[in-house]
Amino acid sequence: MTDLDLLLGKAKEFHGDMCAGIVLGTRMTIAGMRELGMNPQEKNRDLIVYVEIDRCIADAIQAITGCSLGHRTLKYKPYGKFAATYVDLKNGTAVRVAVVEKKRTEKTGKDAMQDAVRILLETPESELLRIRRVNLVIPNGDMPGMPKHRARCSRCNEMIVDSKEIAHEGNVLCGNCAGVPYYTDLA
Ligand SMILES: [Zn+2]
Ligand SMILES: [Zn+2]
Repeated sequence: MTDLDLLLGKAKEFHGDMCAGIVLGTRMTIAGMRELGMNPQEKNRDLIVYVEIDRCIADAIQAITGCSLGHRTLKYKPYGKFAATYVDLKNGTAVRVAVVEKKRTEKTGKDAMQDAVRILLETPESELLRIRRVNLVIPNGDMPGMPKHRARCSRCNEMIVDSKEIAHEGNVLCGNCAGVPYYTDLA
């Protein structure tokens, strides 16, 4: 079995099925880790990945790298883009890998996914991915390790760790109280 087959298998098992996103996420991760001089077959404790979408590719990235939200090594940026940035904590090197947009299959329905998977496996990396070194500074509050900072929201009174509080007109607010809330209390 090749490296690609092995890593695809890992990603597929974690995700639950094989799909275009699993192929993309696997190939993105192979490229990103290679550019950082890391072996995707081994867990690398210095790797942090920013993923810009919460779709299938995120599962492939997590399955292969072992990076996760819980370990603070997988960061989610809700940009809705098929891209991820791979960061080596040792030296700060960051490589962003984005999928080159292109219509690759004309098929629809049941055959479309199988066809997409095959095409995405066959497409040369240079036509599939755009790979660039980027500047990236990980804020202190986003680093792995124990929380170093705590605060309390002056409106909902809930605790906030990791410097996520927002100063607003002399008050300290949590993200939900300060911004556009994703939930509201029932009346
Ligand atoms: Zn999928
Ligand atoms: Zn609050």
